[in-house]
Amino acid sequence: MADVDQNTCPKCHKPLGEIETTKTGRKLRHCSGGSWNSETHKVDGCDYVLWMQMEPQALDEKCPKCGAPLVMAFTRFGKKMKKCSTNGWDKDAKKATGCDYVEWVNSTTVPLEEKCPECNEKLVLYTTANGKRMKKCSTSGWDPATKSPTGCTYVYWLKPGELETPTVG
Ligand SMILES: [Zn+2]
Ligand SMILES: [Zn+2]
Ligand SMILES: [Zn+2]
Repeated sequence: MADVDQNTCPKCHKPLGEIETTKTGRKLRHCSGGSWNSETHKVDGCDYVLWMQMEPQALDEKCPKCGAPLVMAFTRFGKKMKKCSTNGWDKDAKKATGCDYVEWVNSTTVPLEEKCPECNEKLVLYTTANGKRMKKCSTSGWDPATKSPTGCTYVYWLKPGELETPTVG
């Protein structure tokens, strides 16, 4: 198998341009053999685009299946997932190799210094899978046995743009 030259266009063999970053944080490189024609709204010349893979981040967590370290990986659509670091892709056999453990990351919880107005315990900032954010009480939980919320029920939904940087510490 020939090495892939990451700096040369596989279509026309011209050098690839500088790394560009999209609004959603994805990285790409355009072929220098093409240029955007704003009149025709088409690419003149070569239209090859190389999408850069985001580097997986090593996590301080172990895979529950095999005990290898987990890594945080990003899909092409910016979704986050934790997957096993032994997981890979065999291009020749066209199948996944190693451990297949994947955990989709849908929501995050960040502890806040703010106090709950109802019970005076600490609040947490909760971000849902679709990016909505709310402050809720750290004592709140869910009892799967009785199917009912436990602890304090204080919830404050944030408006878009409110509390851009949570004050932690
Ligand atoms: Zn090209
Ligand atoms: Zn594993
Ligand atoms: Zn509370």
